[in-house]
Amino acid sequence: MAKLLDKQRYKCALAAMQTVQAIDRALPILHSGPGCAQKLSDTNGSSGYFSPNIFPCTSINEKDVVFGGVKKLNSTIDNALKVIDADLYVVLTGCIPEIVGDDSGEVVSRFEDADKPVIYAPTAGFKGNNYKGHEQVVDAIVEQYLKKSDKKQKGLINIWADVPYQDLFWLGNLRALEKLVAELGLTPNTIFGYNRGIENINKIPEAEFNLLVSPWVGLGNVKKMERKFGTPYLHYPTLPIGATETSKFLREVGKFAGVDEAKVEAVIKEHEDYYYYLIGRYADLFLENRVINKQFTVVADAQYSLGITKFLVNDLGLIPAKQFVVDDTPKNYRDQITEEFKKLNFGIEAEVSFETDGYKIHSEIKEHDYHGYPLVLGGYYEKEVTESLKGNFLNISWPVQDKVVFDRSYVGYEGGIRLIEDIYTVAVSRFN
Ligand code: SF4
Repeated sequence: MAKLLDKQRYKCALAAMQTVQAIDRALPILHSGPGCAQKLSDTNGSSGYFSPNIFPCTSINEKDVVFGGVKKLNSTIDNALKVIDADLYVVLTGCIPEIVGDDSGEVVSRFEDADKPVIYAPTAGFKGNNYKGHEQVVDAIVEQYLKKSDKKQKGLINIWADVPYQDLFWLGNLRALEKLVAELGLTPNTIFGYNRGIENINKIPEAEFNLLVSPWVGLGNVKKMERKFGTPYLHYPTLPIGATETSKFLREVGKFAGVDEAKVEAVIKEHEDYYYYLIGRYADLFLENRVINKQFTVVADAQYSLGITKFLVNDLGLIPAKQFVVDDTPKNYRDQITEEFKKLNFGIEAEVSFETDGYKIHSEIKEHDYHGYPLVLGGYYEKEVTESLKGNFLNISWPVQDKVVFDRSYVGYEGGIRLIEDIYTVAVSRFN
């Protein structure tokens, strides 16, 4: 029987146009109905050199459903190459052309000899959400554009983390991961955001290894790169937020890359000294406040749910109530992620629910005894329910509607401090 899904937290796979847009000077070409891009775009820092309003689109209609839309796709790619100056053109297919059976791959192959690369990713909405769409775009780059290289650059590390734009903090988080890796004396390589783009894409096959910082998104991509380029990968499932997890992260990356242990420990010590100096200055607030001293819930994709749970338990000593993962994590990854929620300090384990229905999540939050004011970190949808419980709410996951984020980050030592600032700013503000 058909079910209603209340407060969905993701979009359809075609929203991978945002993944393409996050690559400097890469242009999505949409083979879809005319309303798709409009529906899938947010005002979350998505204007700029290219924006969803100017993405070329075949705008297919009833006639194309009957006779096929391949002619239109051919002319749209042809004209995009003529009038829009980009470094990479990525054709993304929506529901209609895939339902009527347009062979978009064949059309794209006609542009093999174009001056600029043209690739395509099947991203029909019925195939999955934008987490899967993001993977499809990276797969398309690996399969259709990149070639195996005999040249390997010592210390070059490709970094992959979660989904641009779906995660509002994507840019800052990636830059923070780059900085951490660079401090170990390694050379980070990412493809998203300012001044990265095609040059960095070209370096992907030359990397010593792929570093995936994500519970599950991108795992298929790094496995594909291992098969195609022979590049090994390190899968670090937890977004490192705060000192405990960031120090673990540095040790694990350092070990995998063969960095001298003393060097890794020196980097950690310098950061931890400053981190705990800052924490010490506010220890009285953490210990004596009466508004954040009991249990918390995170409602977010697997990346933030896991990363923030570990941070709040390990660094702030808070107790987890039930945590909710809302990204429709594929079933084969769920056991592994559930195990990660059990790896908390002080023998604490967090219960996690993979739940996409906001109604059910809110019912559980309402019924749970938080032994005081609940702390809820989630999407904007959780604001109302948290307020009804007189709790403290922080909007950290999609949809984010109460803040503007340029390149702020919650990653690393500094990111942990930013998250503490945000949480305790909410707490101290409630009595103003
Ligand atoms: S679900 Fe299909 S029709 Fe709807 S926006 Fe996505 S691609 Fe377009």
